[in-house]
Amino acid sequence: SIVVIGSLNMDMVVRAERAPEAGETLFGQGFALSPGGKGANQAVAAARLGADVTMIGRVGKDAFGSGLLEIMEQERVHTEYISLSESQATGVASIVVDGSGENRIIVVPGANVEMKPEDIEALETVISGAGIVVMQLETDLAMCGAAAVLAYRHGIPVILNPAPAQPLSDELLHHITYLTPNETEAGILAGIAVESVEDAERAARIMLSKGVRHVIVTLGSKGALIVDAAGSRHVQGFPVQAVDTVAAGDSFNGALAWQLTCGRTLEEAVRFANAVGALAVGKTGAIASLPRLEEVEQFLRT
Ligand code: ADP
Repeated sequence: SIVVIGSLNMDMVVRAERAPEAGETLFGQGFALSPGGKGANQAVAAARLGADVTMIGRVGKDAFGSGLLEIMEQERVHTEYISLSESQATGVASIVVDGSGENRIIVVPGANVEMKPEDIEALETVISGAGIVVMQLETDLAMCGAAAVLAYRHGIPVILNPAPAQPLSDELLHHITYLTPNETEAGILAGIAVESVEDAERAARIMLSKGVRHVIVTLGSKGALIVDAAGSRHVQGFPVQAVDTVAAGDSFNGALAWQLTCGRTLEEAVRFANAVGALAVGKTGAIASLPRLEEVEQFLRT
């Protein structure tokens, strides 16, 4: 089974011709509330493929929090370890999409960053019972570090999707089995500019030297690059008409986790995750764009 430790946000998306200036009020053309947060997206991505997924996270005692819990349950994600904050609101992302499709986003993490190392240490048995642990960086960094140490001690593999990118300690990287940056994140983590597959490989090698076991750099339409002690392998992406790249990385990570718990080799798992990512960019929305297993199998047959 998969344990996802991560964020749950409510995305509030407003559509308008243009973003307002300071002090200005505009009429917009549309509004939508949609569940999001990298943790929630990755949990649902894996659950839709058939994985048994438990999510660890925190929401507020408010309507957005109960709405998110309900959605996770509908998606058959186990929610008993999603706790309720006494003082913080559910994480939100306020998103303005203008007439040219450009986004302006403010994320208020709220309850997501309230979980601290001691909260995760109290869930040691949940982590030790996992087949794989999946994390991102929209929660407290020290909490992620503590979770990685716990998993490591129990011999449980950890996928860290280092998004949004921030510098990570060698101590944290040492406890990570699979690190899955995109090209931008790989560049930030390694401290070099990443503009080509060769640069991505160089960045991955820098992270390997810090103790990560496998680095998988996602390359958008070009698929992904695996770099580890066995060398480096470019796993090609699937050509599709990209409509909306939201949740591409999240769908990739959820799929990768599921395939690894099914006993697939890393190359097989990455190929499958590329297919899931390609299907997710072919549809609009975050959770709405995540494919189910039948869709992926059919896609891989054609
Ligand atoms: P992120 O969404 O985190 O920036 P990427 O853009 O690298 O990450 O996308 C993650 C994965 O989704 C890629 O490794 C690939 O498998 C798939 N993907 C993304 N964009 C495309 C695309 N235009 N065509 C096909 N597959 C894509």
